[in-house]
Amino acid sequence: MRSWAMPLCFDLDGTLGHFSSGFVLLREALGELWGSAPTTEDLGRCLGSTDWEIVAELHRLRFGSALDEAGYEAYQAACVGRFRSTFARGGREAVAYAGIIGALHHLAERHRVWLVSGNAPGLLAFKADVLGIDPAIPRLGSLPRHDRTDLLRLALQGCPGPHLYVGDRPHDLAAAQAAGLPFLGVGEAVPGDHPSLPTDAAPEQVVACVTALVRV
Ligand SMILES: [Mg+2]
Repeated sequence: MRSWAMPLCFDLDGTLGHFSSGFVLLREALGELWGSAPTTEDLGRCLGSTDWEIVAELHRLRFGSALDEAGYEAYQAACVGRFRSTFARGGREAVAYAGIIGALHHLAERHRVWLVSGNAPGLLAFKADVLGIDPAIPRLGSLPRHDRTDLLRLALQGCPGPHLYVGDRPHDLAAAQAAGLPFLGVGEAVPGDHPSLPTDAAPEQVVACVTALVRV
């Protein structure tokens, strides 16, 4: 297998595992900061898929003004605090997709692998640690004024390609297409004719699929 000068980018939630009721914690964190939590309907109306986009949309809805960096930092701190206490030892447990995470670590031995996720950076760092992702694998979380496609483009900077994005939702596929990346789906929530794997795929199956997709 030759080495590719490219990042293999993996989404986190729904792709490497999941943290149940994450959106409840997001709403509670904003409720703590804003006096009352945005409703599920408010959240459902948001078009963005990254924390910056979602919190900015909810902020505009609530206050009629743009979110700034300080407001985003405050959201991140409150949200990380809620995740830390909810998923503390003896509390709720995250579900890790062991085969996909195993494949990610195997691929990282020879290639550049990135986590590119819609979570705020501090939240992504926390979740990646809980799932046991090697700290040497770079994490790129949701940055102010960036959508998911912008994040993928940042990860690709300076790399000649080809590249790949592995994700679990239509917004992941859309971002991959906008950034010009091949896409590998995980689970059943991304309709389309792209290749896709079940969440319990074995590491060898994932590696074989990735290899077939990026080989030119
Ligand atoms: Mg996801």
